[in-house]
Formats: sequence, structure tokens, C-alpha cells
Amino acid sequence: MPGKIWFVGAGPGDPDLITVKGRHLLEQAGAVLFAGSLVDRAATLYAPPGCDIRDSKDMTLEAMVDWLSAAAARHATVVRLQTGDPGLYGTLIELTRPLTAAGIEWAVVPGVSSAMAAMAAARETLTLPEVTQTVIFTRVAGRTPMPPGEDLAALAAHKTTLCIYLSITLLHKVQDALRAAGWPETAPILVVQKASWPGEEKIVRGTLADIKQRCQAEKIASQAMIVASPTLGAADWPELARSKLYDPAFAHRFRSATLAPEPSA
Ligand code: SAH
Repeated sequence: MPGKIWFVGAGPGDPDLITVKGRHLLEQAGAVLFAGSLVDRAATLYAPPGCDIRDSKDMTLEAMVDWLSAAAARHATVVRLQTGDPGLYGTLIELTRPLTAAGIEWAVVPGVSSAMAAMAAARETLTLPEVTQTVIFTRVAGRTPMPPGEDLAALAAHKTTLCIYLSITLLHKVQDALRAAGWPETAPILVVQKASWPGEEKIVRGTLADIKQRCQAEKIASQAMIVASPTLGAADWPELARSKLYDPAFAHRFRSATLAPEPSA
């Protein structure tokens, strides 16, 4: 009976940010294929002695499929450990289609994505009542082109939170797109490198005008999340709209109102 391959999100870097389910699977794993240096610590920390642990960074997609298939023939539990969440800029479908075709069972365990880790590191929020209620996960075109309708200037026109992956070396393109969408030069921009990595995390705050210079000064050229959001800095704003969920005047399923609602203007 062949084993099952689990595509597990390792989280953004801190080994404590893997899910309990992901950790349990690693503890039972006969073989682990992990994605580069971003997740090796988690793999070695939780995998049992004697586990066959392999870094995939020098492997082609075909070699990875072969390795995982061979591992599943020998072990009940095989883990493919990916950074953040496996469904965001991973190679989930490319890897799993051949497995399905070969009749090998597989499943996905979600992970904490680096966008969440970056915002947590900076003590910022992705959404804020009456400011933005929408988050866009995106990137700018590098070697991978963007599909029609998804260029950053078009997405930025919504003025929502933008979490921009895989784009730190293309920061000038991010700036151009935000400018084209009418974001002011003073718009706050956040860059977090190695979010959640113990001792290695770097947080850079700047504006649309100066974020590139600030990142250059900090020598940030890889493994960084760029966030543009109208919520940035809200912790220091003098005034804030209340979240309806916790507003005493707002009744919902779990709580009845304790104050009469204010008359609307
Ligand atoms: N699946 C991953 C994303 C992989 S793509 C996830 O859900 O997070 C790789 C990109 O993710 C990097 O270019 C960078 O933009 C971002 N990234 C991954 N780990 C990061 C970290 N610890 N801190 C900041 N950005 C990170």
C-alpha cells in the first residue's frame, strides 16, 4: 500500500509558526522534501531520527515528482515542506498532477503566509473598518508574466491592502504602478525581510517616495514582503472608526446591544 504525500505549509520561517497538524505529520514522516533554506530548520527540528530529509533546491520538477513517488512507495507518511502556505506561489498543482496520474494519494496542510507574518512583525493590520476591507496578494511581472487584467497599477487603483510577493528586486516597478494608480508620494509602504526569522527579521518603513532608498540602505534584496496599505500606521492615528463587531451599539448573533445606536446623520 503506497503512502500518502502531505504538502505542508512550514510557515514564514519561525519553526513555531508551523501548524500543530503540520508538526505532527513531520514527526511521523519517513521522508521529507523541503523547499530550500527557508524551511530546513523546521524539517530537522521535528522530523524523527532516521527520516530521509532532502533539500529540493537543486532539483527539477520531474526529479521532485520522482523523489516523492519513490518515497511514497517506501513510507506511509511523506512530507513536502513548503514556505508559508503551499497554495501561494508554490508549485502545488505542477507537482500534484503527476502524482494523481500515478494514483498516489496527497493532501494539503495550510500554512501561515509571509504576508501575515510581515504584518504581525510590524504590528500592523491587513484590514480596518471604513478604511479597507480587502486584501490583494500579488506580485509584479518578473520572468513570470502577469495574466491580463492583473497588472499592479490596475490592482492598486482599488486602494486596498496590497501584499506584494517576489518583487523586492523590482521595487521600482511597484513604485511606478502605485504612482500610476494615484497613490501619493507620502503613502506609507512597509517592507519586511525574513519576517518571523528569529534574530534575522528586518522591518523597513518608508513612503512611496523613499522606500527604495531605505531598502537599499538596509541592503534588502531578497526574501522580503512589500505591503502598501491605507491601514499602515493606524496604531498612531488620532481617530479611528469603530469595528462594528465590538461596538456596544451593534447587536449581532453572539451578543445583544447594550447601548441605543446613535442616530444616523
Ligand atoms: N508560499 C510562500 C510564498 C513563496 S514565494 C508564502 O505563503 O509566504 C516567495 C516570496 O515570499 C518571497 O519573494 C517573499 O516575497 C515572500 N516571503 C517568503 N518568506 C518570507 C519571510 N519570512 N519574510 C518576508 N517575505 C517572505
